[in-house]
Amino acid sequence: MKGLKGKNALITGATSGIGQAIAIRLAQEGCNIAINYRKSPEGAENTEEMALQKACGDIQNCGVQSLLVQGDVSQEADIVEMVNTVVEKFGSLDILVNNAGIQTASPSHEVQTADFDRVIGVNLRGAYLCARETIKHLLSQNRPGIIINVSSVHEIIPRPMYVSYSISKGGMENLTKTLALEYAKQGIRVNAIAPGATITPINEDWTEDPEKKAVVESHIPMGRAGTAAEMAAAVAFLASDEAAYITGQTLFIDGGLTLYADFREAWSA
Ligand code: NAD
Repeated sequence: MKGLKGKNALITGATSGIGQAIAIRLAQEGCNIAINYRKSPEGAENTEEMALQKACGDIQNCGVQSLLVQGDVSQEADIVEMVNTVVEKFGSLDILVNNAGIQTASPSHEVQTADFDRVIGVNLRGAYLCARETIKHLLSQNRPGIIINVSSVHEIIPRPMYVSYSISKGGMENLTKTLALEYAKQGIRVNAIAPGATITPINEDWTEDPEKKAVVESHIPMGRAGTAAEMAAAVAFLASDEAAYITGQTLFIDGGLTLYADFREAWSA
């Protein structure tokens, strides 16, 4: 896709699932990739190996650089260090993908405050702080840049039992819009993708169980869950020059999940 070759990208939570697929896809498009991991260097090494294999095949040094960066996005000091490391090693940072995310399930009246804070701290505060540090860098170098937030259909669909997750993704909508509006003049585009049900480790309770998977998929108009690669394709598009005039938007990639599947047949005709 236009405008991605040679760009420097940082992807948070890139050791598995959607983040891993994004790192691989951006490397295939010729970006240098900084692969953030919190705990598992093995997961990051795995992503790196797959990304370089896809990007370069058997060619040694095909021009795509990779970097593993440890950091917990709920920790401000980690984020500052992470962004500084990427800028130091790559020279600049052009594309930030705020992908790291967690969820916990519990009736809303029983949620432990620490669990609530943890989910908001990673999904929303972490995304904001990563964006803040990236924007500081872009402004200091007078460079344009791209921020892409990995939101969710739960940006707009309420999700009982997951109140902190719903709030975090709902907040992400206005994080995306506010930053997009504030920095449009400086050439910083901010967008989000909102995946529907996607086959990744965060969903292993149903992806690994054929009966539960069938139930989930029965609610999706297109009749199947999405793949991480399908989410990554949309991120590549939004990061590319093909999307040069798009900012402040959330792109829903959900097989029709946000189309009110219950209205497929008329209720009262
Ligand atoms: P996943 O569990 O495979 O990926 C989450 C990643 O975030 C992991 O690599 C994990 O190590 C990382 N992470 C967690 N806490 C972190 C922290 N404090 N610092 C740094 N990294 C951290 O699941 P996934 O489905 O690939 O999720 C990726 C994103 O997609 C999340 O933001 C999630 O909310 C969103 N999403 C997923 C789905 C889905 O159905 N899979 C749907 C909508 C949105």
